[in-house]
Amino acid sequence: NTAVVLYTSDLRLHDHPPLRAALASCDRVVPLFVRDRAVERAGFAVPNRLAFLADCLADLDAGLRTRGGRLVLRSGEVVEEVCALVREAGAGEVHLAAGVSGYAQARERRLREALRAQGCALYTHEAVITAVAPGAVLPSGRGSDHFAVFTPYLRRWSELPPRRAAAAPRTVRVPEDIGSEEPPRRSAVTGTSPGLARGGECEARRLLTRWLSSGLARYEDTHDDLAADATSRLSPHLHFGTLSPVEAAQRARAAGGPGAEAFVRQLCWRDFHHQVLAARPEAATRDYRARDDRWRTGRDAEEEVQAWKDGRTGYPVVDAAMRQLRHEGWMHNRGRLLAAGFLAKTLYADWRTGARHFLDLLVDGDVANNQLNWQWVAGTGTDTRPNRVLNPVRQGLRHDPDGRYVHRWVPELAALPAPRVHEPWKLPAEERARYDYPEPLVDLTEAQARFREGRRGA
Ligand code: FAD
Repeated sequence: NTAVVLYTSDLRLHDHPPLRAALASCDRVVPLFVRDRAVERAGFAVPNRLAFLADCLADLDAGLRTRGGRLVLRSGEVVEEVCALVREAGAGEVHLAAGVSGYAQARERRLREALRAQGCALYTHEAVITAVAPGAVLPSGRGSDHFAVFTPYLRRWSELPPRRAAAAPRTVRVPEDIGSEEPPRRSAVTGTSPGLARGGECEARRLLTRWLSSGLARYEDTHDDLAADATSRLSPHLHFGTLSPVEAAQRARAAGGPGAEAFVRQLCWRDFHHQVLAARPEAATRDYRARDDRWRTGRDAEEEVQAWKDGRTGYPVVDAAMRQLRHEGWMHNRGRLLAAGFLAKTLYADWRTGARHFLDLLVDGDVANNQLNWQWVAGTGTDTRPNRVLNPVRQGLRHDPDGRYVHRWVPELAALPAPRVHEPWKLPAEERARYDYPEPLVDLTEAQARFREGRRGA
């Protein structure tokens, strides 16, 4: 008997419940990935993620081949493609990670119905997309369907008995007569960021191992240091599922120490946003905290938003972060906080404009974590201090004290030492003229007053 395993955002062999279950129940298994036309139509398939995905699929195929199998690739509407493959392979069962997002849940419902009509069973398994499934911990109050505040969520999340990651299977037998499309090639994707990271499970495992041995111990002290670049850079792998978050948490805990604790806490943030979005899918596009239209619309600040996108706001640390995003398709978390805060509060523009720009470029761009972090920063989400405003000068002085991050990404200021590099407008006119760098887009004091005024009106 034959089973189909539908891969979605879990592009790995290790710790993969659907693949394990299919192998336990059938002697032949077809691992399938469908390039989903609906995702492409929704504008979500942007060059950086498409290129990373190409690496992930090539690596998954290679991993399956070393185990005697291979990956079958199709493109089209997922439900139609799965049903067609089930007929072709004479499969009696389909295995899939249970949908976490609203989109995945709707797809699962359609798939179940269509498969039932052709006499095939659909089995869903725990989606190890998060370390703890959304909805697995709930607040005790009656009628509460999710945690709206991080700290109590973290407490309950940490109390759960940790799940253990499962090993990769040794062999996978795929029926020979099943055709596959050619895998996409990373080099065929145009418009990618020049410094884009490499995808695939092998790369994820290599990065994790290196991170645990040489980064984790210093993480607590250095994770906010922009120039040190001392975070794991595992986010795209967690997003594409080339790394199991359960395994990342398990191995970090085994390494122990304050660095491990801080790192696992970040993994919990990821789960936190997923559980908020699972309970409030509308928070992807609408304010999580209900506000009137005046706040939600934000200001019409098209030119200023364009300067922000181009990394030409005149605030060096904001510009450095925005240029890192464009160059790498990734941005340091501290950079994301201050660049997003600058758009949403200092420019007082609609957070969704900024979130869209991030999603267009981020290789780890993820609806739950991008939209809800944006809402957190904009003060429309789960931040318990929604009116605080990050000052880009103070942020620069604090998190890039010797200016190395600005020097790296804003080369026109490379000759200007810290701390002056964070406030070039204060230079004497003659010296200022030597730097081809814009004047500040807005005055911080006025911007702060405008934001507070707007917030009062909302
Ligand atoms: P590390 O510091 O090594 O952290 C380990 C892992 O924990 C990360 O890989 C990530 O999966 C998770 N994590 C860390 N910080 C957060 C956080 N604040 N929220 C949720 N998970 C976190 N992360 C995404 O994965 N996708 C996004 O689209 C995304 N958009 C963001 C937008 C904004 C405005 C902000 C402020 C943050 C966003 N983040 C997003 C969260 C965070 O910035 C990145 O996960 C992190 O920078 C990735 O780098 P790293 O893997 O080196 O993180």
